[in-house]
Amino acid sequence: MTDIIQVPFNDLKPKIAAHRTAIDRSIARVLDRGWFILGPEVDAFEKELAAAMGTKDAVAVANGTDALILALEVKGIGPGDEVITSPMSAAFSALAISRLGATPVFGEIDPVTMNLDPESIESKITKHTRGLLPIHLYGHPADLDPIMEIARRHHLVVVEDACQAHGARYKGHPVGTIAGIAGLSFYPTKNLGGFGDGGAILVDDPALGAKLRQLRNGGQSEKYKHDILGTNSRLDDIQAAILRELLTTLDAETTRRREIAQRYFEAFRGLPLGLPVEQSYARAVYHLFVVRHPRRAAFMAALSARGVGTLIHYPLALHLQRAYESLGGRPGDLPVVEQAASEIVSLPIYPELTDTQIGAVIAAVKEAVHA
Ligand SMILES: *Cc1c(COP(=O)(O)O)cnc(C)c1O
Repeated sequence: MTDIIQVPFNDLKPKIAAHRTAIDRSIARVLDRGWFILGPEVDAFEKELAAAMGTKDAVAVANGTDALILALEVKGIGPGDEVITSPMSAAFSALAISRLGATPVFGEIDPVTMNLDPESIESKITKHTRGLLPIHLYGHPADLDPIMEIARRHHLVVVEDACQAHGARYKGHPVGTIAGIAGLSFYPTKNLGGFGDGGAILVDDPALGAKLRQLRNGGQSEKYKHDILGTNSRLDDIQAAILRELLTTLDAETTRRREIAQRYFEAFRGLPLGLPVEQSYARAVYHLFVVRHPRRAAFMAALSARGVGTLIHYPLALHLQRAYESLGGRPGDLPVVEQAASEIVSLPIYPELTDTQIGAVIAAVKEAVHA
């Protein structure tokens, strides 16, 4: 078994190699200029990002969590407010709500898309509910029309968590343009992943864009003049320069992710394995390719023995995390979420996978599925 093809769950080396020369030049450009914070690279990146994402504006910040915090804050969420969100996510989504002194309220998910189920939102609304934070989990957009309809009826603000969904579309509209505001993350393994931390808020309203730029930079309206209580959440020019370079290949990478997903769909059809289903309203960007298996541990071990790396996104639903113990969540509260959390497995789907590696994943899954 020395000649098995290794497929790590993720591998940034080929991506770094492909961009290495250009990135070395980008970093040198910033060093030669000597302007490191909120300089011309950040300005240029914001414009290029907004154009690529199909939104009017983009405001770069320190990370995706801050993007969500500032987006919720600028929409008026604060202490005592309840924001309904999905417990099937990276904890950072809900932590953004908590950081503002607001309370995340966890709804049920749709069993197929594993995104927040619009029907469960209604049952969670109280007199304290002020906002909704749908998450475009795994790169598949949440069902936004019914969510926006509920928001209108109950006068709630909506922020899209698009940290896994750069370039995804809902009924042809780019994520971020339905609610008018969305958070993005550039954590290294995200679809647009930098070589460090970074994030951005996609925003359609110029007044909100201006306020976000003030908030991320200490609340200053001009240098040393602090008009509102802001924070320090700035992207630096070296990271912005790197992200500008990486943005040039995002479209091609998304196409490749979708191709790999298509190959998986064709190969796995008919296997005793739960597969993602791209909804008719969605253009998914396959940040992750998440399948479901009733004997997950055995399935993952069998894949690992065949050289294929897998991970679980995410093994413990947020309503059952110790940090949220005070909210009173108990096992059994959200059965669809808890069932999903016990069965999900993420397969490798990064754009740099070779055809040989894709073939190896397919062959391994076909055997391991019977484990
Ligand atoms: C990555 C991620 C975040 C947090 O982004 P960071 O840049 O790591 O702060 C928030 N929500 C979701 C759904 C994510 O995947």
